[in-house]
Amino acid sequence: MQLTYSPYQLELKHPFTIAKFSRTSTPLILLQIEHEGYIGYGEASMVPYMGESHQTAAEYLSRVDVSQFRYPFDFDAIIQYLDSIAPGNPATKAAIDIALHDLEGKLKQQPCWELLGSDPAKMPVTSYTVGIDTPEVLVEKVKQGDGCRVIKVKLGRGSDKELINTIRSVTGLPLYVDANQGWTDLHESLDMTHWLHEQGVILIEQPMAKTDPDSNAWLTERSPIPIIGDEAVQRFPDVDKAKGVYSGINVKLMKSAGMHEAHRMIKRAGKLGLKVLIGCMSETSCATLAAAALAPQCDWADLDGPLLVSNNPFKMPRFMDGKWVLNDEPGLGLEA
Ligand code: MG
Repeated sequence: MQLTYSPYQLELKHPFTIAKFSRTSTPLILLQIEHEGYIGYGEASMVPYMGESHQTAAEYLSRVDVSQFRYPFDFDAIIQYLDSIAPGNPATKAAIDIALHDLEGKLKQQPCWELLGSDPAKMPVTSYTVGIDTPEVLVEKVKQGDGCRVIKVKLGRGSDKELINTIRSVTGLPLYVDANQGWTDLHESLDMTHWLHEQGVILIEQPMAKTDPDSNAWLTERSPIPIIGDEAVQRFPDVDKAKGVYSGINVKLMKSAGMHEAHRMIKRAGKLGLKVLIGCMSETSCATLAAAALAPQCDWADLDGPLLVSNNPFKMPRFMDGKWVLNDEPGLGLEA
């Protein structure tokens, strides 16, 4: 088995601004694992606030010994091994996990979604995200999201109502909102949830600080719209901590160290009565197809990565009626 990788800079179509920061591109690692003539593809998307970079990925990968990986893959043991090398590095671990899932599908001649027990008919629509921007640019972005059936709006910079009103002036589509921990006052936040409910908002992501479960729980108990933990929920042990604090969790492969643990998180959330939104970072078709393989097991999807970038090195997967279409190809179904 042989692991190779290359750094890549993924360019965004528009500068992306949320409550805490703004950026125009995202560092990636594109990774391949070769075995018996088959190649599994993986990807790490390392958004700056998560603390990973081309350098940290290179350091981590220099310590990974691929002779540890034996087919058929024991993913519990593999994740344990990857965690034993160093804590953190979830996106880099995800790149390895995704490549091994792609490889497993190719070796078994089965699509990943089938190996994971997903029903393609249950694929949820994916939202199209617009960052914080001027009204003119917002209107333009919403128009570009044509083909999507849900718009996700980034809030939390103090002009939330104006932003929603601007979007409502161009579209009546259902909305997801993400405050990225930007709300601070409990009663103002509660009023906002009621106002957003009237505006056709379906869910709210991470309204208050991830370090303040009490305030998030208070709001969840009273909000007419589900409150979803994102920044507060990274890996498997965080799912149980979300119970009683949030109505649901946002699972992302770049937080969970890949598909295997994301799948475990989704199943655990179901047992605890938590809803699941499957989300993404700025990603190519590779990580998007990996998440799409699990999306039919989730309540909502926010997998718009490839729709927001300008230099996706892979072919765009089929997108129809606002949903990614899972194909019958072995592995992820990724086309170079
Ligand atoms: Mg979020």
